[in-house]
Amino acid sequence: MIDLKKEVQFIKGVGPNRVKLLNKLGIYVLEDLITYYPREHEDRSKPKNISDLQDGEESLISAIPISRLSEVRIRKNLTLCKLSVRDETGICQITWFNQTYLKNSFNINNRYKFYGKVSVKNGRVEMQSPVFDLENVDKNTGKIIPIYPLTYNLSQNTIRKIIEEALKEVDGKLEETLPDYLLEKYNLYDINKAIKQIHFPDNFSSFFEARKRLVFEELLSMQLALFSLKNNIDSNKKGISFDKDVYMSDIINKLPFSLTKAQLRVLEEIDKDLELDKPMNRLLQGDVGSGKTIIAILSCYKAVKSGYQSAVMAPTAILASQHLESFTEILKDTGIKCELLISGTTKKKKEDILKRLSDGEIDILIGTHAILEENVIFKNLGLVVTDEQHRFGVRQRSKIVSKGNNPNVLVMTATPIPRTLALILYGDLDISIIDELPPNRKKIETYAVTKNLEQRVNAFISKNVEEGRQAYIVCPLVEENEEIDAKSVMELADNYKNNIFSNYRVEYLHGKMKPKEKDEIMERFKNGEIDILISTTVIEVGVNVPNSNIMVIENAERFGLAQLHQLRGRVGRGEYQSYCILKYQGNSKIIKERMKVISQTNDGFIISEKDLELRGSGEFFGTKQHGIPEFKIANLFEDIGMLKLVQSIAMEIINKDENLEREENKKLKLLVNKKFENRIEI
Ligand code: ADP
Ligand code: MG
Repeated sequence: MIDLKKEVQFIKGVGPNRVKLLNKLGIYVLEDLITYYPREHEDRSKPKNISDLQDGEESLISAIPISRLSEVRIRKNLTLCKLSVRDETGICQITWFNQTYLKNSFNINNRYKFYGKVSVKNGRVEMQSPVFDLENVDKNTGKIIPIYPLTYNLSQNTIRKIIEEALKEVDGKLEETLPDYLLEKYNLYDINKAIKQIHFPDNFSSFFEARKRLVFEELLSMQLALFSLKNNIDSNKKGISFDKDVYMSDIINKLPFSLTKAQLRVLEEIDKDLELDKPMNRLLQGDVGSGKTIIAILSCYKAVKSGYQSAVMAPTAILASQHLESFTEILKDTGIKCELLISGTTKKKKEDILKRLSDGEIDILIGTHAILEENVIFKNLGLVVTDEQHRFGVRQRSKIVSKGNNPNVLVMTATPIPRTLALILYGDLDISIIDELPPNRKKIETYAVTKNLEQRVNAFISKNVEEGRQAYIVCPLVEENEEIDAKSVMELADNYKNNIFSNYRVEYLHGKMKPKEKDEIMERFKNGEIDILISTTVIEVGVNVPNSNIMVIENAERFGLAQLHQLRGRVGRGEYQSYCILKYQGNSKIIKERMKVISQTNDGFIISEKDLELRGSGEFFGTKQHGIPEFKIANLFEDIGMLKLVQSIAMEIINKDENLEREENKKLKLLVNKKFENRIEI
């Protein structure tokens, strides 16, 4: 049997340098290599007529040299090699740079295939630096060639060769991962064929078949894993039932506003769950500003008045402090004790909190990851709330849950996930949705603008700041490189601070700063001590500064729609008319369509559906922000049909064989275990 865990350094052609580069791509072992799927394929198998070549395209031609290769020395270190070739339809001029070794490669009596980038100017057809083969040789051409997502310094040719080597090693020896009955029934390629054809397909139809099989496997194992999570939670455990005589309405009636219909409906669902003696395990989805915090507060109220403690976990210190404020305000007349635990909490304070927590004196502990530490011990934890769920993984969720005896769990997220997907992806959670914003919310007016309106935008910001408002300016992550990001924010900030808005108080915020520095700046912004805050997307999550009414987003075309919507949700939280200004570059149809969607609707669900649709398969970042597990090959928009099919198959399997114990499902059990090993982050 082959060892799929064999480290890449043992693969032919992989030295220490390449090991490092591969590691950067997340490739450590043989298995990672063969599942490093191409992002697309180049068809170098079908030649085109020279007369049909299009400017800018990469194409294959089959042609005969008209002349010998000529060399033109342009300057020192730069020699241009030229070759004219013809086919039955026209002439093409081929050029290479500094490749003088090609001198004797061509014979005017032979036919060759050339593959390269074409330019057509005034009827002159040229091809630059093509790869080539003799007519009946298929070395660089004649095939469908995989193109891989890459990192700096690793060329397509290199990774292609490495993967070719890896495939040679495993050729025909991979152990089948799906049961025979599924392969047969759904007419799927076996694993060996699929892996080979996904990289180096014989033709496009075998590529599609290979992809189908791999998508099937990926979605099926995910779905089965999710079902089994749900089963673990539902069937085996007895939970805590809260007191039927504790009425949330006691608090609701005293609120300064009336709850929306959606909030009331969700509360009813939660209330019912909490009174059952099986643990609640519920996902609460609601757009930014839809009022999720109050739901958390009321749930905690119910827990505390039933005699149990609650834990509320938020992804940042700022958010946690904000929650503490809201909780304390709303619960002020109830005698309920709330405390805050974050990494910045002083040692002395922390000791005091830990003691009172284990004694049961603290009713609600609000905090960040700091709550997860071993020494945080509750007396009787009955409810766990995690806010902005997609920042926490399953593991963290289960860590906090294990601090109680099957406590109830409420997971809140502002990331709208299209309904169809949510139901499938959160197989382990019941779902409540707040699909309505509180009344009298002013719509955030959104404008997409190009560079030539920059001055007007700046003037508009000035005018609002003069009136006492505050503004955010967000710029995107330029590279997956914090240094560069920090630099680009600082340059931008510099220009704003020292030139454009030199009369105002401008600060900047980026991911490289220490959490403490970030929190301090956010705090000053919150207190109105900063007029304009320039930042990377670190402000994305739920910060509440009602006085800020402008959100400017630089290079908006680089963000996903869902993310733009999240960012926009930072404004429009107070009484002032708020604006979101999207500065974008580029003329492509898809960019314009995206800008149009985000400008025209404020409905997070519609936006996330569109987002998925407009992203297409090429774009591989972005799923994370949905809280959707990363897929290696499946694309949730394209493969929605397959997803539905697989869901019904998974359901059928689980109904017959809940724990996948039957012989025929042995392989599926392995797949599911592997998913857990690799820690699905849901
Ligand atoms: P999110 O769902 O984004 O966490 P919050 O819970 O922070 O939203 O609520 C946003 C703001 O709306 C808060 O200031 C909150 O007090 C207010 N709010 C919540 N529910 C209502 C309501 N039914 N009517 C009016 N204002 C509300
Ligand atoms: Mg919130």
